Amino acid sequence: MTHDPTAQATVRLRPKGPARAVRFGAPWVYADSLVLDRRTKALTPGSIVRLEDGERAPLGTAAFNPLSKIAIRLLDPDPGARIDRAWLVERVRTALALRARLFDTPHYRLIHAEADGLPGVIVDRFDDVLVVQPNAAWAERLLPTLSDALQEVTGATCVYKNASGRTRALEGLDDHSEILAGVVPEALFVPMNGAKYRADILGGQKTGLFYDQRANHAFAARLAKEARVLDVFSHVGGFALAALAGGARMALGVDSSGPALALAEDGARESGLDARFATRKADAFDAMDALGAEAARFDLVIADPPAFAPAKPALEAGLRAYERVARKATALVEPGGCLMLCSCSHAADLPAFRTACLRGIGKAGARAQLIYSGAASPDHPTHPYLAESTYLKALAFRILP
Ligand code: SAH
Repeated sequence: MTHDPTAQATVRLRPKGPARAVRFGAPWVYADSLVLDRRTKALTPGSIVRLEDGERAPLGTAAFNPLSKIAIRLLDPDPGARIDRAWLVERVRTALALRARLFDTPHYRLIHAEADGLPGVIVDRFDDVLVVQPNAAWAERLLPTLSDALQEVTGATCVYKNASGRTRALEGLDDHSEILAGVVPEALFVPMNGAKYRADILGGQKTGLFYDQRANHAFAARLAKEARVLDVFSHVGGFALAALAGGARMALGVDSSGPALALAEDGARESGLDARFATRKADAFDAMDALGAEAARFDLVIADPPAFAPAKPALEAGLRAYERVARKATALVEPGGCLMLCSCSHAADLPAFRTACLRGIGKAGARAQLIYSGAASPDHPTHPYLAESTYLKALAFRILP
């Protein structure tokens, strides 16, 4: 008998497995909740399987990866679903409809993984250029079809695979990035909040731009009229350029990455804002100390550091680092001015982060009002079962005079 490679395998939950949660929409099943026999363990990572509960009743169609702790990622509640180009096209269409409603130009996160029904898949759109992060084995296997589906729905001409995501290793995937279609343009400018940002698709951090901060950039811009602005951990000038477009008197961007600051300067020039923009390449903590020593004061200070507490073991040290940032940043705020503090740490939840900020502000000898509490922009929807995907927090305080 010849083996039919298209025949779908079945994977079953243990008798006490989370069948109810899956029926209510939970997107994952961990390996220890599954019956893993020799046959199941031999399945290729990223295989599409039929998922059953302990009583053999169907739960849906899922992607299976025997190498990952997240062994099952639900794809479709229909146990007979075919995960093919048409299915992918439908998911991408649904995702696109939300973004088309939210934004005037085709610059946004198009696919935000589980929340958009494509588990582990991130797609950022820069007009005709799509940057795909296939961070789950099933997406890696179906990548050519996914790339076609993305192009069909969006009309984009260029697709770049960014394999730098930290979670790929947990799925047994390599870190080899490549162009899947078209040509990546050398200079790419993205309009957001009245400024134009330069995104570096091939060499930049993340996928080139932090779209998740757009709504928080916009709020900072509202505080920026006539203000002297300090943007610490500026990257490509996310907050600084929005603030300048919002009428800031001047903005200083601080980052330890020279290439990031060069992109920020390109964006400032393209936006016609460069006369009021300056950069300083330095460690953020040192730069804040130095500015303090120079008695520099700003009407708005923003600090948006990298994840200091990406996972639980780093939580305590991470919270202390956020407190230190808050203390040093507060010292640079003109009394009556504003302070915006951000965290993209999964492990530090909002109350923990807020407490760290308040301790830092208190240690700087200041009192504050909390005037804004923001999260990732709505092109980064949250899957209701994955609280940790609400990773981004942005708090704005007014430092009382
Ligand atoms: N605020 C940006 C995103 C910041 S990402 C936006 O809204 O688009 C975090 C940035 O911190 C990165 O650009 C990284 O280069 C920088 N960074 C990391 N560690 C640093 C340090 N110790 N000092 C200064 N910058 C640092």
